[in-house]
Amino acid sequence: MKNITILGATGSIGLNTLDVISRHPEQFNVFAVSAHSDWKSLLQICKDHQPSFAVLSDEASAEKLSSAAPSGVEVLFGIASLDKIAGHPKTDFVMAAIVGGAGMSSTFSAAKTGKRIMLANKESLILGGNLLMSLAKNSGAEIIPVDSEHSAIFQCIKGGRDGLSKIQLTASGGPFLQTSFEKLGAVTPEQACNHPNWKMGKKISVDSATMMNKGLEIIEASFLFGLMPNQIEVIVHPQSIVHSFVYFDDGSVLSQLGLPDMRSAISYALSHPGRNSSGVGVLDLTKEQSLEFHQPEMRKYKCLALAYEALEQGKSAPGTLNAANEVAVKAFLENKVGFLDIPEIVEKTLCEAPCQNLDTLDSVVENDQLSRQIAQSFVGSSD
Ligand code: NAD
Ligand code: MG
Repeated sequence: MKNITILGATGSIGLNTLDVISRHPEQFNVFAVSAHSDWKSLLQICKDHQPSFAVLSDEASAEKLSSAAPSGVEVLFGIASLDKIAGHPKTDFVMAAIVGGAGMSSTFSAAKTGKRIMLANKESLILGGNLLMSLAKNSGAEIIPVDSEHSAIFQCIKGGRDGLSKIQLTASGGPFLQTSFEKLGAVTPEQACNHPNWKMGKKISVDSATMMNKGLEIIEASFLFGLMPNQIEVIVHPQSIVHSFVYFDDGSVLSQLGLPDMRSAISYALSHPGRNSSGVGVLDLTKEQSLEFHQPEMRKYKCLALAYEALEQGKSAPGTLNAANEVAVKAFLENKVGFLDIPEIVEKTLCEAPCQNLDTLDSVVENDQLSRQIAQSFVGSSD
């Protein structure tokens, strides 16, 4: 029996994880769960899964949950409590599914304490990739990607990576694949969050629309698989059936396919090196639309170029890219800036922020905060 901590249990990945776990009660126990402030949803999860711990970000929400939670559930609040449930001696696996840099500290806690990290929170890798990978190496923590593209690559190289020449991350192109660049300036948050294939949280949905999500995934792949920027390509595949490609020197190309349902990747991270049923339907290619692939239109998806630049620069640049993007996306969702301001704010922040080495968690956090301040100053000035 494995004890699972689910960070961000009320989100899209968190709920899908609970769904997969519920199918195998003899293998997995929900040990701890967290949410930001939605204590009512967390209460329902506590009733359904009887965890030992439930954590919310603020004290007031935690008090409300505490007075309603079933007995046996210890209710805590704050970042230190997230770190505690991620690194708890009784925790075996940690689903890191908080959105954004807010998930970094708890992911690091799991890395320091040698857990299996099922990594959905790509932002913690973008912010402090070198540090996270070396912490995991030293403690023996396993990092199993949950991002569907990285799960695909992880599965494809399980048999070895001799002669690996490059990878190709597939990208759906998001809701604006058919929208002209000229019309992008006027799109609304509602349109941006209406992803054609995947039902996801708002932040990653906007990232998919700008393709910053794919940009972050390029950086994620470089850390996870130790690849150079020129070994990581992006290919648009609107049907989201092929989840990425791995190219080898002998001309072979390996790939993993499946219906666009995150439960496959979540289930793989839980059951690796084995496989379990996940609730995902059987792919029938004779019933799918034909599969298409083409190059991304770089003018439309400027965030992709910015991510490559940040990866080439290295040091603190990927963290700055991520911080600026979080600020810009939040401002877009609050109707304070337009859709095309997102890459502008990220670009200006990358130009202004210092590019420095990040050797400690403190330096990662400082760079994140400074970059957010700089990005915020551009939000105020963008009209
Ligand atoms: P979501 O918005 O649906 O859920 C986010 C979860 O994090 C919620 O439980 C929320 O309560 C919690 N949370 C939000 N802000 C917080 C804060 N400041 N402190 C503590 N907890 C906080 O997001 P999601 O779509 O489930 O995505 C989660 C992560 O997984 C992201 O990093 C995303 O990039 C990654 N991911 C998601 C998908 C997907 O299909 N949804 C696919 C690949 C990767
Ligand atoms: Mg992905």
